[in-house]
Amino acid sequence: MPEPENEKCIRLKIDCPPKKDGGLKEAEDRQREKQDMMNRKYPKQKIIIKGGKIKKEHNIKDKIKCVTYHIYWNSETEGKIEKHIPKQITEGFENKYQYIYHDKEGKEHEICTVDWHKTKEKNIGKKYEAKPTHKKIISDKNVVEGQTRKRVLYENGDIAEYGSNNGKTFWVLYTANSSEIELVKMPDELNYSNSINVKYDFSNTQRRYTSPGSLAGFIGALAENNLKLTTTGSCFVSASCFPSQEHVNGKSIDTLYLDNINEQKFIDAMHKFNFNKQITGKDKKRFNNATPEQRGTLHNSHLHSGFNESSIKEVKK
Ligand SMILES: [Zn+2]
Repeated sequence: MPEPENEKCIRLKIDCPPKKDGGLKEAEDRQREKQDMMNRKYPKQKIIIKGGKIKKEHNIKDKIKCVTYHIYWNSETEGKIEKHIPKQITEGFENKYQYIYHDKEGKEHEICTVDWHKTKEKNIGKKYEAKPTHKKIISDKNVVEGQTRKRVLYENGDIAEYGSNNGKTFWVLYTANSSEIELVKMPDELNYSNSINVKYDFSNTQRRYTSPGSLAGFIGALAENNLKLTTTGSCFVSASCFPSQEHVNGKSIDTLYLDNINEQKFIDAMHKFNFNKQITGKDKKRFNNATPEQRGTLHNSHLHSGFNESSIKEVKK
């Protein structure tokens, strides 16, 4: 006996009875077309876990559950950021954060998914002329990472870094606290373009880690004016940040200046997305929303923006 049309509809999960002329065949074709389109748009992704073993295939759009930062356009002056934590996380995504931007029209943009890790929280760095020897040294290496040329690790978790800035060489010691913080690895560049732009690249730095919230705020600010920025980074993998003393724990991001008109737009956008401490150089004009009392020569080459991590609302699903 042929399968009754209404039962077939239920089995195929299509409108029942089919709404358009052409009956079940047309509805079935439409369903297949839709599925083909979804498969092209969101191809199945192989999840590779430690050791290179292929674990599972997922359809990205439908099945992955990952902690996600939602960044909202919200209003002209207020950007809202929420961290959504699902009850269960898809295997292979435990150490990933996804970033989704919601534009003026309420359209969602999947900007990136990045890895996160924990490291010991560091205190603001202190400058030294000679290598600090206050604790037992467990590693002392030459490195070429942006302006950093030496890195010393101490047994208690402290880090000292050596290099040059503005023609002067010096050491900075970052002492470690017992508490741990999270850092994310920033994508080496973003080139997202789909009615909004989220675009940046790096210049002369390996400080490519930042706090999870700073990355969310930065994405919001980039999307605000569709401006492409060049960043000189945030912090290193263990939360140190030579030549800066301030960038510990990825709480700040540096960017190269744009022209004065666009720079003001970008400063306002960063301010909107909770970068509430922005420092410019004394040779630059006085920008609105930048901290006036700290204008020095250090920031003649770049804007410094410090993020307020407590502005992020956590939502448990
Ligand atoms: Zn800075």
